[in-house]
Amino acid sequence: MTTFSADEDFARRFDAEDPLQQFREKFHLPLGENGKPLIYLAGNSLGLMPKAVRETLEQELDDWAKLAVDAHLQAQTPWYSYHETLREPMARLIGAKPTEVICMNGLTVNLHLMMATFYRPTKSRFKILMEEPAFPSDTYAIKTQIVHHGLDPKDTLILAGPRKGEFTLRTNDIVDLIEKNADQLALVMIAGVNFFTGQFFDISTITKVAQKRGITVGIDLAHAIGNVPVSLHDWKVDFAVWCSYKYLNAGPGAVGGAFLHERHATNIELPRLAGWFGNDPNTRFRLHLEPEFIPVPSADGWQISNPPIFSMAPLRASLAIFDEAGGIEPLRAKSIKLTGYLQFLLELAPGKRQSGSDRYGVITPREAGSRGCQVSILVREHPKELFNKLEAVGVKCDFREPNVIRAAPTPLYNTFHDVWRFAKILREHQ
Ligand SMILES: *Cc1c(COP(=O)(O)O)cnc(C)c1O
Repeated sequence: MTTFSADEDFARRFDAEDPLQQFREKFHLPLGENGKPLIYLAGNSLGLMPKAVRETLEQELDDWAKLAVDAHLQAQTPWYSYHETLREPMARLIGAKPTEVICMNGLTVNLHLMMATFYRPTKSRFKILMEEPAFPSDTYAIKTQIVHHGLDPKDTLILAGPRKGEFTLRTNDIVDLIEKNADQLALVMIAGVNFFTGQFFDISTITKVAQKRGITVGIDLAHAIGNVPVSLHDWKVDFAVWCSYKYLNAGPGAVGGAFLHERHATNIELPRLAGWFGNDPNTRFRLHLEPEFIPVPSADGWQISNPPIFSMAPLRASLAIFDEAGGIEPLRAKSIKLTGYLQFLLELAPGKRQSGSDRYGVITPREAGSRGCQVSILVREHPKELFNKLEAVGVKCDFREPNVIRAAPTPLYNTFHDVWRFAKILREHQ
């Protein structure tokens, strides 16, 4: 248990003692109008650019210029197998085996591909349980999958929402909902960390309960990967999907990823939507001579197209930073302190007024084990004005309609002093 203090000196001292302090230098920090770095708390939306990305990307441009088609095999990092360079560092971040991981496409595309394999509704088992509020892209993907199978989302989709007057979900309520619908549920599709509240779900418990009743479990790691430790293999999660431009800092539209548990990844009988890069490499280049699809017996068997090199190069550079930092554990240790500090400062003066009502309050769970680095602040009066004031003084966070400000101090490049300044500005504008 860390004891915090509200003095500026305290923030400075924590930064000086931070074993990860030199990592901030590895990123480009956007500057405000005064020429000073912004207080960047939007890494949950778009992570900052690692300085090493430029060189990694230029290498691929050079190889293209100099080698053209020969770069597929002769580039410094051959393009043909470029995705293979990502699977080990990626697997380390999510507690997976390298053969359970494939980096490809965008998150939502991967969600569709995983559902093509894992959502195969029958007359008796056809329902899907997801959390509310969910990210709209996930909702669209799930609803259109349901319609694609000729079903109606109205009788198919079960939403697990917070209780009246609460903002986050109780694990017991999720479990009860699974139990109540167990015979009809085909799939539980839930986030690792909820995009809106920052709640970190108890994936292990949810997975155990669902699988005991024969239900498949998929996890959307968009806000979890690079933020909180997960053990997808040990938790026996069936599949997971993620994007890489949030906490992974791999740049706009960066290539996403998918996890398939070993027991599925190696099962070449599983139905899927296929393309040539999921095919056995031994016969892949026989092209028209091999009309039968023979999947690679790993997550690679779900890869459809050849790897997008310019989207993967930044991801290579950014994953190297996670390895250099010692993986997710030391980052999580700092993150717990950093976000705990923000929580502490916000609770010092949570906008209390004479009337006793608060202008704003934190809706993210208080316990470190139930959240990642994001703190969601519900603003009860003039939320947009408060957000605009923050922007005007050099804070970059984000606003979710109608009244939530999300701020995510990330352990790789944010400082305790960033958090201290953010909290001070917020207090001044109560
Ligand atoms: C960021 C995010 C997405 C984005 O989907 P893309 O396909 O990468 O554009 C989807 N779902 C969740 C939960 C997200 O947080």
